[in-house]
Amino acid sequence: MQFSDFGLDKRLMSMVEHLGFSTPTDIQQQAIPAAMTGQDLIASSKTGSGKTLAFILPALQRLMKNRPLSKRDPRVVILTPTRELAKQVFTQLRLFTAGTQFKAVLILGGENFNDQVKTLEKDPHFLVATPGRLADHLSQGHFYLNGLELLILDEADRMLDLGFSKQLSQINNAADHRKRQTLLFSATLDHAQVNEFAQELLKKPKRIAIGSAHTEHKDITKRFYLCDHLDHKQALLEHFLATEDYQQMIIFTATRSDTERLSAELSAKGLSAVALSGDLNQGQRNQIMDGFSKGQQKILVTTDLASRGLDLVNVSHVINFDMPKHTEEFVHRIGRTGRAGSKGESISFVGPKDWLSFKNVEAFLQQSITFEQVAKLKGKFKGIKPKKAAQTTKAKTTDKTSSKKKVVKTNKAKKAFHIAHDVGDMPVLRKKSVIAIEDIDNTDNEES
Ligand code: AMP
Repeated sequence: MQFSDFGLDKRLMSMVEHLGFSTPTDIQQQAIPAAMTGQDLIASSKTGSGKTLAFILPALQRLMKNRPLSKRDPRVVILTPTRELAKQVFTQLRLFTAGTQFKAVLILGGENFNDQVKTLEKDPHFLVATPGRLADHLSQGHFYLNGLELLILDEADRMLDLGFSKQLSQINNAADHRKRQTLLFSATLDHAQVNEFAQELLKKPKRIAIGSAHTEHKDITKRFYLCDHLDHKQALLEHFLATEDYQQMIIFTATRSDTERLSAELSAKGLSAVALSGDLNQGQRNQIMDGFSKGQQKILVTTDLASRGLDLVNVSHVINFDMPKHTEEFVHRIGRTGRAGSKGESISFVGPKDWLSFKNVEAFLQQSITFEQVAKLKGKFKGIKPKKAAQTTKAKTTDKTSSKKKVVKTNKAKKAFHIAHDVGDMPVLRKKSVIAIEDIDNTDNEES
């Protein structure tokens, strides 16, 4: 199948040709014609498989061929969980809107609100946005969605993880008419919350799944190393920085403070490294991402803020300095490499604090993982054996008998969590039993 088989407008075809794309990827082959029929879609395929074009092309085609429902309202809204991903989608979209009558704007948290109000007054056709800020403008009547034709949710599961379901519902309700089409995309769409949400948002959606998040990404090698403690991780990192032949590397840590610390240490050793975390203001974040994508630094140290969607073609290596707390982020993190058919390497460090996350990743990937070793850096840690059932029962009994004890425990858990993880860019776990932890660490609404 070729792009020319889709019957796309010639302005879109000439840009596709200009970009040098001849054959649509698997997800594009399925999603583009399906979306062009006007039906709702839930589409998943592996990281780096061309999902962005799979929604941009049918969206533009629809605008080119259909009369608008309203003269003023935006016709397409594209929502993403992070500002960096929104910028990237916006950049791709602009390639296709250039030379057409369609105006696209970017509405992000952390940027000047009044400037955005003025931008919205110009009645753009496309809004690419993070959900919190867009919902704020909607609440204040800076635009209306009665004429919305297409709502696109990129990395929908992550937006739900970040606690944006209220804003997504608000946006959905403001555009609740039968002509609206909704497309939901991600590499990982199989968690229960997404399905529940899809029922609220989508009408008889067609499901497209190219492989599954559990199937192995053939282009990305995965290596795992057991580590005793922080110093051991540090020593292994230095070893790999010295021995791996990398073009650019992303190192993921659990905490914001670790991004700064690691990046400073690497820079002090003469390596070209920079830290990106949600603590920085938007201008600084933009500058760092622009610099890294232009190859000004070789190493980006970050949290899960950068795990989703970012298409950085020269990233050959991903290092999980700490394992992710949200299991599916593993797939997204390593998916920053091995994009569009190129090869990538991932290296993950598993220390005692990472053990539970590692076991969850192992279960998610549905494979038994064997650890590799660096001969001169062997450690003692061999994993943690599951606790015996008797111990668990005892703990439960104690919990029930004293509510006072329980409160103290929760506070202790909060504190310990702060110290141990400070996961910074995300609310950490989605299980009901740890709601207290989510409350204290729900800092990623800075994306709003
Ligand atoms: P995405 O998954 O949308 O972030 O895309 C991953 C990479 O694949 C990007 O660098 C795209 O430019 C590239 N890409 C998208 N569609 C195609 C295609 N049909 N052929 C080759 N590369 C593509």
